[in-house]
Amino acid sequence: MKWCVLCKRFSAEIAAPTLRAVLAFEICPNSCYAKNSNDFRFMFQELAMQTETRVGFGYDVHRFGPNTYEQGLVRLCGVDIPHDQALEGHSDADVGMHALCDAIYGALADGDIGAHFPPSDPQWKGAESQVFLRHAASLIAKTGGRLVNCDVTLVCERPKIGPHRPAMRAALAELLGVVVARVAVKATTSEGLGFTGRQEGIAAHAVVSIEVPKSNDEEAAEAEALLAGGLLE
Ligand SMILES: [Zn+2]
Repeated sequence: MKWCVLCKRFSAEIAAPTLRAVLAFEICPNSCYAKNSNDFRFMFQELAMQTETRVGFGYDVHRFGPNTYEQGLVRLCGVDIPHDQALEGHSDADVGMHALCDAIYGALADGDIGAHFPPSDPQWKGAESQVFLRHAASLIAKTGGRLVNCDVTLVCERPKIGPHRPAMRAALAELLGVVVARVAVKATTSEGLGFTGRQEGIAAHAVVSIEVPKSNDEEAAEAEALLAGGLLE
């Protein structure tokens, strides 16, 4: 049995031996090859339109302390929450947004937030984290891809996240340019254990799924080159 790249099924027989020899694409004869044998352009356009799903993970921590963006507030996922402690950080210390940025950079295999916005660079001092998230989202757009969904988990005993969840989801969705249904914000405590349990800081985890064109793949690039060179006319 062979795998047909067009209909994505196993087939007992594979046609288009010349193509297979050239490209290592394998196409089943009864449906895909018969349908498309007069129009290889169609096939390569289809291949060029194929996407792949990628996943990224991000993690961030900020401590509570005096050296803060604004006393009496914590900014989490774009929402300012009154709190008796504030988070320390070079920027606005939005730990949830930072984790989400890193998840996106991870999915794109394009460095991390510290590489794009070095804390040593004074221009990012006191920066609003939405600058970082817009940048990360713009990198997805640059590939021609899109964000499928994201999922952020904040870890803290206090403040309570639940009442702010709708506002956080809305803020992130707007910055990412997606509908709210693609954005999840969750919260948990660590049952009094560890630094989050002792209320020394807040941790955030984030996962994203993005869909990007497969155009960087070797085989699609090869197909494009052959198409451009007129070898498959
Ligand atoms: Zn951070």
